[in-house]
Amino acid sequence: MLDVVIVGGGPAGLSAALVLGRCRRRVVVLDAGRPRNAASHALHGFLTRDGTPPLELLTIAREQLRPYAVELVDAEVVAARRHDGGGFEVELDDASRLFARRLLLATGITDRLPEVEGFAPLYGRSAHHCPFCDGWEARDRPLVAYARDPGAADFALLLTSWSRDVLLCTDGRPLAPDDEARLAAGGVAVRTDPVARLEGHRGQLERVVFARGDAVARRALFFHLGTGSTGDLAAQLGCRCDDAAGVHTGAREETSEPGVWVAGDASKDVLLAIVAAAEGARAAVDIHRSLVREELEARLTAPRGPPRG
Ligand SMILES: Cc1cc2nc3c(=O)[nH]c(=O)nc-3n(C[C@H](O)[C@H](O)[C@H](O)COP(=O)(O)OP(=O)(O)OC[C@H]3O[C@@H](n4cnc5c(N)ncnc54)[C@H](O)[C@@H]3O)c2cc1C
Repeated sequence: MLDVVIVGGGPAGLSAALVLGRCRRRVVVLDAGRPRNAASHALHGFLTRDGTPPLELLTIAREQLRPYAVELVDAEVVAARRHDGGGFEVELDDASRLFARRLLLATGITDRLPEVEGFAPLYGRSAHHCPFCDGWEARDRPLVAYARDPGAADFALLLTSWSRDVLLCTDGRPLAPDDEARLAAGGVAVRTDPVARLEGHRGQLERVVFARGDAVARRALFFHLGTGSTGDLAAQLGCRCDDAAGVHTGAREETSEPGVWVAGDASKDVLLAIVAAAEGARAAVDIHRSLVREELEARLTAPRGPPRG
């Protein structure tokens, strides 16, 4: 039986694998190869890696795992359950199974994207979800906040840290009267009428075209439409989770189910790669400690041989 199976080979899963590998644990990382930021061209805000292509970060991480007893497998986990004999059983998409004493889910999340004509070629270039990741590159430019939920006004106001020229588009959703007042105070322009399409050239947004026929010139779009889950493995295992907060985790990334940890975006804390990596490391330390405790307990309770002499 393996010490740990890690589901997900993004910053969270690979960071956990590095720490566990260095603790001399036998680890398998299973990864479906669909990182959340695949559309992005540069990872920002990651200490020592600001501006690195996201896939390059993963390649370096995978290379640096080579000295350790960590196996990287390209596979999707379709089911996970507690095993009768102790530990956990995970089922892969080719129907094979792995058994491990501990399980770390680092499966990330999915983003709800604007369903607006013209969005796809702009995504990751001049259309982004996170101003902390890509706001600096769009600073002082005419921005559009595309947001349709109750947090729309706060999101648009946040963008004014990067540019004084922000237009909030709610694409047909009305605003609450107190939001209108707050947006006016913050200097944010508002359009609540439906958007027809986004127009741009070679990934660069040029204008937002409204259904009534007029267009407004903009250089970058930030959207705020919420996130979804990448699967239901945590729920299959009985971990407490909900749509808003993701999987509930404690201070050491442990879940409500003993033996199961969740790190990275899946627990919906701060959704940045460096935070995901830190959570992976924190989970790994706790997992290793729990294994050490279990090994000591097994030694203490093991039947002793007959006394000598
Ligand atoms: C367009 C975009 C740009 C971004 N830019 C930045 C940025 O500049 N700076 C920054 O800090 N953050 C950025 N982020 C956020 C960053 O991508 C995430 O915070 C980070 O990737 C989270 O890491 P993670 O390991 O939790 O999840 P992920 O990186 O999403 O990795 C999860 C992995 O688990 C795999 N997986 C899921 N389910 C299964 C399964 N059942 N079996 C096997 N494998 C599975 C997935 O295929 C994926 O490879 C950006 C996000 C997006 C969408």
